[in-house]
Amino acid sequence: MEEEILEKYKKAGEIAKKVREEGKTLVKPGVKILEIAEKMENRIRELGGIPAWPLNISINDIAAHYSPSFDDETIIKEEDLVKLDVGVSVDGYIADTAITIALSEKDKKLVLAAEKSLEEAIKLVKPGREVNEISSKIEEVIKSFGLNPIVNLTGHGLKRYIIHSEPRIPNCSSNYHYKLKKDDVIAIEPFVTRGRNYIKEEDEDRGLTYSLVREKPCRLKEAREIINKMKNREGLPFSDRWLPVKGIKLKLAMKELKDKDCVEVYRILRGDSKIAQAEHTIIVLDKPIVTTL
Ligand code: MN
Ligand code: MN
Repeated sequence: MEEEILEKYKKAGEIAKKVREEGKTLVKPGVKILEIAEKMENRIRELGGIPAWPLNISINDIAAHYSPSFDDETIIKEEDLVKLDVGVSVDGYIADTAITIALSEKDKKLVLAAEKSLEEAIKLVKPGREVNEISSKIEEVIKSFGLNPIVNLTGHGLKRYIIHSEPRIPNCSSNYHYKLKKDDVIAIEPFVTRGRNYIKEEDEDRGLTYSLVREKPCRLKEAREIINKMKNREGLPFSDRWLPVKGIKLKLAMKELKDKDCVEVYRILRGDSKIAQAEHTIIVLDKPIVTTL
């Protein structure tokens, strides 16, 4: 990997780590998640990065993809299991990291299993390693806690401005026989639950994020404004909080953008029981670099 690119990945990783650790201290009962998201995103900008996606704060049985909208009133409750998933872009080179904060003693084991399986998985990363060995290790560690990995959520490759690319890194053994290559950048992210071992996409109309996937002429002025404001993100996801349009006009503009396939929606992913996650980004080298550790 070119030195200059490596440095950008490292810088993104350092920012993501710092913001993740600061974010951990903000998670307390009674706090609005909207406030946490905005603080953490502002810190990313202050430190010289760009949020690679809106801060994801997924609570309890929501595994991933929840980010508060501009009018989100959700408040953290006493027993919540809170996942912070942080994405930082430095010139399109991305760091992806997540932690889970268990406010209830009863959920600490879920967090421990996610962290331990991630730690063991990272030890196996090297050029030439078959992904399935990593996946099997994740499954083995989680099951040793008497818990289940979520089988339809996987780690993934990262490329410039692309948040999910090959290879995928499943959280249980599979028929996927990709061998890691030098310079691959990957995110490993075990998800752990006591309940059902898969998640479903929700139809619910809250906590959504969006990507601008193509530009087309639009009838509504507000839809054109959204395109103009978001096109420099090169397809990285955005929040309605970042848009100049609010209220009914926002709804109508987003509807036009969705109908014209200009915008893709990331829906909430939900299981049937509390879910914990841990995640780091790793550059595959003879001596791998965990950029977010
Ligand atoms: Mn993530
Ligand atoms: Mn990820």
